[in-house]
Amino acid sequence: MTVFPTDKFKELRTPFYYYDMNLLNETLSIVKKESRKHDFHVHYAIKANANDRILEKIRENGFGVDCVSGYEIQKALDVGFSADGIVFAGVGKADWEIELGLKNDIYCFNVESLPELEIINDHAHKMGKKARVAFRINPNVHANTHHYITTGLDENKFGISMMDLENVLDKMVDMKNVQFEGMHFHIGSQITDLDNFKDLCLRVNELQEWFISKHLFPKVINVGGGFGIDYDNPDDNPIPDFAPYFKVFKDFLTVKPGQEVHFELGRSVVAQSGNVISRVLYVKEGVKTKFAILDAGMTDLIRPALYQAGHKVENISNPEGAKTRYDVVGPICESSDSFGKALDLPEMQRGNLVALRSAGAYGEVMVSRYNLRENPPAYYSDSL
Ligand SMILES: *Cc1c(COP(=O)(O)O)cnc(C)c1O
Repeated sequence: MTVFPTDKFKELRTPFYYYDMNLLNETLSIVKKESRKHDFHVHYAIKANANDRILEKIRENGFGVDCVSGYEIQKALDVGFSADGIVFAGVGKADWEIELGLKNDIYCFNVESLPELEIINDHAHKMGKKARVAFRINPNVHANTHHYITTGLDENKFGISMMDLENVLDKMVDMKNVQFEGMHFHIGSQITDLDNFKDLCLRVNELQEWFISKHLFPKVINVGGGFGIDYDNPDDNPIPDFAPYFKVFKDFLTVKPGQEVHFELGRSVVAQSGNVISRVLYVKEGVKTKFAILDAGMTDLIRPALYQAGHKVENISNPEGAKTRYDVVGPICESSDSFGKALDLPEMQRGNLVALRSAGAYGEVMVSRYNLRENPPAYYSDSL
């Protein structure tokens, strides 16, 4: 459980990101332990948080990296991840990004369309290389999550549809500079019902038989990420339950001799370790409600505005105060710049420190300079 050093925070200008490095370390060691139990390989999805200190810890734990841009590949290399643990997904890989991946001999391109496969083959040919590729397949499996973070349905832009797969394989026969590694999936994010992953496993089992019937052996089954966290109760559930999560794949995925199972976890690894710390600027009486106006806004944590996501709001200066109802908002000139309506919180006063919890994933990485705001600094529990 994260304990905030409120006295130290008093000296600091807000808003800022605060990372609980003990919690991060504990989370990483559990991910490592539970995945290794089944010989699973974990690639950290760097788009969730690309802060150098965080990446350093993740690298020390021996994970690979899942990238969705050339910039992320470069970042992973710069902080010392080895290229042979890098996988690269994304529906719109630009030519320079493909070249960068090839030049550095990254482990695998997770290919999302036939035209992309053709371009990878062309570049690899020009560079005298052979690109390892896995097909990102859209399995049409529900993730029961917010529709903006569902990725594995027919209507989503991601992956190769099952209808198109046969055509892709036919065309691949003539491509001399790509080598088939396996299958890749990622059905969505913030998935808490493990049945969704079970459904994915069953679909993968069918699909791999289909590949084998086409005389292609998927050496790697990459099931992506998407494991959810408890945004409502970060202190009760600071570390997601990784044991049952991995066990679903152990129990329901048919793994053949010589096959590897890969994961791409982002949110579940880093979300609970991060927080946005802000101050109450004003408490304003509205017509129907009281507004607590913070100095942190959607520029610092965009998930509520972007996905209607909820982050627990905690008054850490006055935790025992009498409960009062507030709409908690930021200072940005957008009505969507809100962290929650009708929240019952300990009484808020100007200057109180407020933590926006579970902000370690898709928080700092999505910072923006809208309203020409400065990017907030980050502080770490082990070096404050
Ligand atoms: C975003 C993403 C992930 C990580 O998702 P989380 O929900 O953060 O675990 C994994 N794989 C791919 C391809 C992604 O785009």
